[in-house]
Amino acid sequence: MADVEIVGSGPNGLAAGVVMARAGLTVRVHEASGTIGGGSRTLELVEDGHFHDVCSAVHPMALASPFFRAFGLSRRIGFAVPEVSFAHPLDSGRAGVAFRSLDRTVEGLGSDGQAYRRLMEPLMQREEEILAFVLNHVLRLPGKPEAALRFGLAVLDQGSPFWNRRFRTEEARALLTGIMAHPVGPLPSLTGAGAGLTLGLLAHTVGWPIPVGGSQSIVDAMAADIRAHGGEMVVDSRIDSLAELGSAKVVLLDVAPKALVRLARGRLPVAYERAINRFRYGNAACKVDYILSGPVPWANAEAARAGTLHLGGTRAEIAAGEAAVAAGKHPDSPYVLVSQPSLFDPTRAPEGRHTLWTYCHVPGGSTRDMAEAVTRQIERFAPGFRDVVVSSYTTTAAGLETYNANYVGGDFGSGAVTLRQMLARPVPSLYPWATPLKGVYLCSQSAPPGPGVHGMAGFHAARLALRREFGLKVPALGPA
Ligand SMILES: Cc1cc2nc3c(=O)[nH]c(=O)nc-3n(C[C@H](O)[C@H](O)[C@H](O)COP(=O)(O)OP(=O)(O)OC[C@H]3O[C@@H](n4cnc5c(N)ncnc54)[C@H](O)[C@@H]3O)c2cc1C
Repeated sequence: MADVEIVGSGPNGLAAGVVMARAGLTVRVHEASGTIGGGSRTLELVEDGHFHDVCSAVHPMALASPFFRAFGLSRRIGFAVPEVSFAHPLDSGRAGVAFRSLDRTVEGLGSDGQAYRRLMEPLMQREEEILAFVLNHVLRLPGKPEAALRFGLAVLDQGSPFWNRRFRTEEARALLTGIMAHPVGPLPSLTGAGAGLTLGLLAHTVGWPIPVGGSQSIVDAMAADIRAHGGEMVVDSRIDSLAELGSAKVVLLDVAPKALVRLARGRLPVAYERAINRFRYGNAACKVDYILSGPVPWANAEAARAGTLHLGGTRAEIAAGEAAVAAGKHPDSPYVLVSQPSLFDPTRAPEGRHTLWTYCHVPGGSTRDMAEAVTRQIERFAPGFRDVVVSSYTTTAAGLETYNANYVGGDFGSGAVTLRQMLARPVPSLYPWATPLKGVYLCSQSAPPGPGVHGMAGFHAARLALRREFGLKVPALGPA
């Protein structure tokens, strides 16, 4: 019997496993699927030699999160950091472009350049303090209130109905809207602005890196560390009841709250179970992966050098698309995220071929294949795109849940990103990782700080469990 049993091998489950194994405890990780990784798997979906990131693809947090910095991830795996972090093509070949260099971005934004600098530069100067704040629990007092205040003012600037005041050009407005639409939901919103501005500031500090070998490299590095410290990974091991885990001193659950209720089988106090049943899942993604016979023929030259692109047109168009999804509809012109990994990492496809990663926002539970709508949206900004498509592979929102039970209805955040659910994730508590069951902790993205491959939900849960159950502190996590 292990000291610590972990259910789920997503980035958070593995981050928790690293902390526990490094503390000298015996760790066993159970994974329902045949391979480890949760939302960070890389698979040959269609043809041999063509590797697709099934879920996460772009990883600013892999270089910036306090957990990954302590773990020394950038010394364990390779990252390709594109010179253009993200681009937002508009009609007639125009585009808003976020270079890694703030100066180049400002220059490219013309008359809105200085307004963009005034928004972003103060955040970039406080990167570490802002990350410490946003990657913690919002109910915790910020260590550096001045940085949190600066961040809060920027969030109000872009997350309120007055969001158009700062910028005059569509390029700048659209550039910001593309990042703020990452968490699915109506725009403008404070949560969208919070997520977007964090991603925006990182675009100009660490960049938006693409892991060499795919997102799988990130989880493989954590799994290797757990094994090196005596831990064990058990695949094809779906846990249906906590009783299956015997008398482990600590159980860490990398699952959605819905699954926590099921696993506990009536052992949760009524008030807690009622609170957790109020937790809402959000709208969803439909994923479309492509194999291409050449690069995407973007009309805008800088778009061709971007690691990531946001499609959907102007700020108003994207807000309309997000409003449609919120109303349960499939927009004709959806918001589409695109990553071009094989431009930067040759391991992803045979020479001459490319893999293209895309998804668009759809209502939760959708079974609609959005491949045609996504292809149309890419063709709009890259005429001739259809000619380079060799094949495509769709995972509908409902299919995402089949792939990973944590993505309830295809909600890739395992819980809607709303103001209420950032305060109560999954319940209102100063220690939301702890459940009322002795030794049982929730360590998934359904707990603070929420979605993204940062490992921080796993880190916070493991740190709390180490202290409460073993009286231990977090050990050194870096490579030997
Ligand atoms: C299409 C898509 C694109 C994304 N793009 C990005 C991106 O570019 N960058 C980024 O940072 N994030 C991205 N994300 C989000 C990211 O993948 C998640 O935030 C992250 O994976 C959450 O990690 P987690 O450890 O909390 O859970 P998960 O990664 O969901 O892992 C949970 C694991 O637990 C297993 N499990 C669940 N129940 C059980 C059980 N009962 N028994 C055993 N095992 C179980 C599941 O099979 C799964 O492997 C994307 C997500 C999707 C779906």
